[in-house]
Amino acid sequence: MDFIAAHDLDEALAAKAHQPDALLLAGGTDLMVEINLAHHRPSSVLSLRRVEELQELTAGRIGAGVTWARLERNGHRGLAQAARTVGSPQIRAAGTIGGNVATASPAGDGLPWIIAAEASIEVQSKERGIRTIPWNEFFVGVKRTSLAADEIITAVVVPEDVPIAQEFAKVGARNAMVISTVSCVVIRGDDGFRVALGSVATTPMRATRAEEMINAESTISDSVLDEFAHIVSEEVRPITDHRSTEGYRRHAAGVLARRLVERSLR
Ligand SMILES: Cc1cc2nc3c(=O)[nH]c(=O)nc-3n(C[C@H](O)[C@H](O)[C@H](O)COP(=O)(O)OP(=O)(O)OC[C@H]3O[C@@H](n4cnc5c(N)ncnc54)[C@H](O)[C@@H]3O)c2cc1C
Repeated sequence: MDFIAAHDLDEALAAKAHQPDALLLAGGTDLMVEINLAHHRPSSVLSLRRVEELQELTAGRIGAGVTWARLERNGHRGLAQAARTVGSPQIRAAGTIGGNVATASPAGDGLPWIIAAEASIEVQSKERGIRTIPWNEFFVGVKRTSLAADEIITAVVVPEDVPIAQEFAKVGARNAMVISTVSCVVIRGDDGFRVALGSVATTPMRATRAEEMINAESTISDSVLDEFAHIVSEEVRPITDHRSTEGYRRHAAGVLARRLVERSLR
């Protein structure tokens, strides 16, 4: 197996253009599991760990190489809350948002925030330069994205006007070191509530019917919240798998979304 350690973005893009089948390595917390389980036998691995251009972290731009440990302290409250729930300190020190986005697991804890914030994924190739892909065109199925073989994810691009009232929570089989059974982000702004969920469909999803319902109400009473939770439970499209049942996920999605709306109003 060839191992290439790119020193900067140009070198990484040139290497990926030359060897599009080279597997990209960021923190390795997803990739090494796959390699250890023999799901991948890559002929070459291209490491991005030394690429400084991927380390930028501002309110509007989160470099693909930014680790969860750094995101725990970032200014977007919902993303910081999500970061604090990822794996263990060791996983958060190594794992990156770019790796989470590229893996595109329905359970990826960074993804509900990205879609609630209406962020885009910036990707780059040597041949075609930069493409900025809206989240709903980037995540196309379970662990499937619209990233081309010669492209590298460079950043998550965040709109300037993301409201500051943000809440994230997840439900899992235990309190820590757990993959989400259901995750949820609620962002509350002048235009109302945005509600995004993970682990309840093939891709992270927005609960648009529930958003429409609650955003049409002038007062958020208990009966409105009951109806809202009910619509979220109906709207999600979960499956039964080794982590949970469809029925539990529907129930938990409604409970979580309702709880986060209430928290965002405090
Ligand atoms: C014990 C354990 C606990 C975990 N807990 C959680 C959890 O609670 N929540 C959660 O969401 N995840 C969890 N994960 C999964 C993992 O840590 C995250 O998905 C992490 O963000 C992956 O980032 P990474 O940098 O390690 O990616 P890597 O493993 O380096 O890469 C993952 C995939 O992304 C590709 N890739 C990486 N960077 C780029 C890039 N810039 N452009 C294009 N492709 C790229 C790689 O080729 C690979 O296919 C856990 C993993 C482990 C082992």
